[in-house]
Amino acid sequence: MNWLRRVMNGRYGVDQLSLALLVISVILTVVGIFPKSHVLSTLSIIPLLICYFRTFSKNIRKRYEENRKFLAFWNPIRNYFMKYVNRSKDKTHRYYRCPKCKKTVRVPKGKGKICITCPVCKEEFIRKS
Ligand SMILES: [Zn+2]
Repeated sequence: MNWLRRVMNGRYGVDQLSLALLVISVILTVVGIFPKSHVLSTLSIIPLLICYFRTFSKNIRKRYEENRKFLAFWNPIRNYFMKYVNRSKDKTHRYYRCPKCKKTVRVPKGKGKICITCPVCKEEFIRKS
């Protein structure tokens, strides 16, 4: 492992953007296999080469800045989907949207028909919990 440590010394390494490029490359490869598309298989090399270039790059500041821009784009998308993943894991509460201010309200599950008061605008609405 010392040889790897010596090779990677002073180099940027792997980050979220590199992993995303790797995933894109794998997806293009898999998609290119089934219809026997040589174009997609060839295109899958491009993100892979960019991933390698970024991993072994010594311009750490520039790679860091690229990753920061990628995360500024990616994190809102990720958070949007993670919100629904986390809600599906929550077995003890239900989530409703206030009809007036559109704020999400969390209420305990299994209480029957209840009157929900929005904590923001104090709007009252009836839903089955
Ligand atoms: Zn409200």
